[in-house]
Amino acid sequence: MTRETVFKKQFTDNSDSYCIIGAGPAGLSMARSFKSKGVSFKVFERYKDVGGIWDMENPGSPMYESAHFISSKYLSGYMNFPMPDNYPDYPSWKQILEYHRNFAKEYNLYEHITFNTGVQNIEQVESGWLVELDNGEQRLFKGIVCASGITWAPNIPQLVGQDSFSGKIIHSVDYRNYSLFQGKRVLIVGAGNSGCDIACDAGTAAEQAFISVRRGYYFIPKHIFGQPADVFGDGAHWIPNGFSQWILAKLLNVLVGNLEKLGLPKPDHKLFETHPIINDQLLHNLRHGDVIAKGEILRINNEFVEFKDGSREKIDLIVLATGYNWSIPYMNEKYFEWRDGRPELYLNLFNRNYENLFAIGYMETDGGAYKMFDDMTNLISCYIVAKSENNYSAKKFEKLIKKDRPLLNGGIRYLDTPRHSVYVNQIAYKKYRTKIQRKLGWPELRAGSFSQLLTK
Ligand SMILES: Cc1cc2nc3c(=O)[nH]c(=O)nc-3n(C[C@H](O)[C@H](O)[C@H](O)COP(=O)(O)OP(=O)(O)OC[C@H]3O[C@@H](n4cnc5c(N)ncnc54)[C@H](O)[C@@H]3O)c2cc1C
Repeated sequence: MTRETVFKKQFTDNSDSYCIIGAGPAGLSMARSFKSKGVSFKVFERYKDVGGIWDMENPGSPMYESAHFISSKYLSGYMNFPMPDNYPDYPSWKQILEYHRNFAKEYNLYEHITFNTGVQNIEQVESGWLVELDNGEQRLFKGIVCASGITWAPNIPQLVGQDSFSGKIIHSVDYRNYSLFQGKRVLIVGAGNSGCDIACDAGTAAEQAFISVRRGYYFIPKHIFGQPADVFGDGAHWIPNGFSQWILAKLLNVLVGNLEKLGLPKPDHKLFETHPIINDQLLHNLRHGDVIAKGEILRINNEFVEFKDGSREKIDLIVLATGYNWSIPYMNEKYFEWRDGRPELYLNLFNRNYENLFAIGYMETDGGAYKMFDDMTNLISCYIVAKSENNYSAKKFEKLIKKDRPLLNGGIRYLDTPRHSVYVNQIAYKKYRTKIQRKLGWPELRAGSFSQLLTK
């Protein structure tokens, strides 16, 4: 694109600064990191406040009333900003939202965020990156950090015969609370963490609830021997992955029992080869008949849903808990290499082809995300600082960005699905990132990092 077609009118020159898109958890972590390293930046958030998906009123948020964290508060807080003592082991979405608002206040991040201002388009130009806002304004930035989230665009599969359906079909992104289910026969499609929560709501409120699952999953109870599951697992992180997969699968068998008796398929993979389902409530509901497990859907036939096992059920409402399509809608597809619907990034962060183009939050992982976000945003900041100082380490790192393709699965063979194509094992990721940072002489986060930014 030529300069003339890109620069439509007078633009604001922010070419000494980085532009962060989104003030959700990832954007806030990036903002705190930039602030602590003295990197100049601005955040644009299309909604009126911080917190991303955790604010149910943020239009398009997938949040629902019964949502709780699935990683425990002990391992989920930001570095040096633990979740409050009075929070339960697994905080509610309201508490997570409050936690983020307090985080932004404590580190004085609000003053850097322009609210009610969406980013509409971004183009690379000779002198940097030109950002077009939804108020028509154009601003020139040195670099871009995409932090606009991955759970906004619902993945809606077409069900055979759905045009004949006399009931209603919604996606889980539009689900808010169980009042929708009262007096109805409800089918939830998909047994991810949201699907399981919503099936439990339906189990309580619906006339009858069903959940359709295509494959078997492992269900990890939220507490194991009285400890949150992730705290329990963390205590065993020194055990090699292969052995811990084996021993924990045996333990789950004892704790949870045979899931086939509940009508669920036997998992066709080893433990941790798919994103874990952290939920014991669904098993309770299945054991009490409040939710009935069904297999894959064959077709819809008027008021009936027919399943591949030959059974059929009269259904009034179908909730598709079928996940999300990832996108970065304000950037032309040419800027990111998309594979299986996921952007290909070095260490899930660095664009390999375009300088000063970063993305955070475009990954899935096997534990709480926020400490990992902090380590990741620290790595981005370290690189930017090294580059601004003409430090040779930045050049070395740029070579890695181009060529290095580490396997970050920790020896676990994740299933070959789009969801798992950018899935990382937290321990393997941390080990690799630390090794690189040490080699380059870039500082790790430690106790006391960010204290200079605190209000008190
Ligand atoms: C039901 C559920 C349970 C979860 N449980 C956990 C858990 O237990 N532990 C955990 O660590 N993670 C959990 N997650 C993962 C969750 O995705 C992260 O916690 C986190 O919200 C992701 O943060 P983010 O900043 O990447 O994205 P988001 O939260 O999606 O925030 C993105 C922000 O960008 C803004 N935005 C988007 N487009 C634009 C634009 N064009 N211009 C300006 N602003 C824009 C949005 O308004 C939003 O504020 C859960 C997710 C779900 C859906």
